[in-house]
Amino acid sequence: MLSIRSILRPQLRSSSSFLHFSSSSAAAIQAERTVKDGPRNDWTRDEIKAVYDSPILDLLFHGAQVHRHAHNFREVQQCTLLSIKTGGCSEDCSYCPQSSRYDTGLKAQKLMNKDAVLGAAKKAKEAGSTRFCMGAAWRETVGRKTNFNQILEYVKEIRGMGMEVCCTLGMIEKHQAVELKKAGLTAYNHNLDTSREYYPNIITTRTYDDRLQTLQYVRDAGINVCSGGIIGLGEAEEDRVGLLHTLATLPTHPESVPINALIAVKGTPLQDQKPVEIWEMIRMISTARIVMPKAMVRLSAGRVRFSMPEQALCFLAGANSIFTGEKLLTTPNNDFDADQLMFKLLGLTPKSPSFPQESSTVEESEACQEAASGAA
Ligand code: SF4
Repeated sequence: MLSIRSILRPQLRSSSSFLHFSSSSAAAIQAERTVKDGPRNDWTRDEIKAVYDSPILDLLFHGAQVHRHAHNFREVQQCTLLSIKTGGCSEDCSYCPQSSRYDTGLKAQKLMNKDAVLGAAKKAKEAGSTRFCMGAAWRETVGRKTNFNQILEYVKEIRGMGMEVCCTLGMIEKHQAVELKKAGLTAYNHNLDTSREYYPNIITTRTYDDRLQTLQYVRDAGINVCSGGIIGLGEAEEDRVGLLHTLATLPTHPESVPINALIAVKGTPLQDQKPVEIWEMIRMISTARIVMPKAMVRLSAGRVRFSMPEQALCFLAGANSIFTGEKLLTTPNNDFDADQLMFKLLGLTPKSPSFPQESSTVEESEACQEAASGAA
């Protein structure tokens, strides 16, 4: 649980500094700079830490200001995430019930067939989702040609329904990123999870650099990057800052930054972790909003534990995307009717799908294909 001291940290440093901090916290200074200069990727870790450490209400307020400057603050993107291949994963991510290394009672399943996947996408669209994300519990897609080709087919079909399409399939090769782009993929999700320093405590079967490499292939192929992390893994606040620093200093910021709160699942090594508090989410969301102003900041796993007023604070802080649907891969998600009611009560509107690279999709992909073949 966060202490009062950590929530009010700067005010407690000294009473004489109170006026100074209340009028010009790092959040205020950096938010003003972000509004004036736009996104930048030369953030120092200390700068981000100072923003993160700002008094919580000040941080929230300035996150909201940047949000209103960079986005239509009433619009919230609704994404539906479907697990198209569940469980049996060879990786050892300590938080994940889909790892075959942990006894979580989850039954491994094969890749879902086309009718089932397209049926789920249609249902999601009818329920207001504009982005359909397909997740497969794989370490990587290398050596899965048949399954990968099936997924390319799913991407084409769902894109044809007028939805944005996202995939999260583990590590991918450069040529696979190009093929996904050609199929019409909007975004590829590959989270960094936590800071580079804390990462080995969470996963040992692939490196932080492996993850960054996949993100680079995705970026090079012209697919939007979706990458964020999870809080509540036992990491220090410094690691949360480290995660945001890595994301905010990528050559181009991710278009989507999911902020997940751990759902501790029985049978995983992190089963006994304490639940994340709303203040921790607000600190992460506001800081992400100030340092990556244009990104869609997604209130992701763990949302189910937050009340409507708590979620409202997250939207105010700068979150503008949520996952809708019964489940988030394998863990429970918010009730559809409750989400509809929340949108109505908070005056939120669903964000329409956008395909900014529509006209150049084929051309760019072919150019990328050539580059990839040349590099292979
Ligand atoms: S998070 Fe992904 S890669 Fe890690 S164990 Fe779960 S399914 Fe596998």
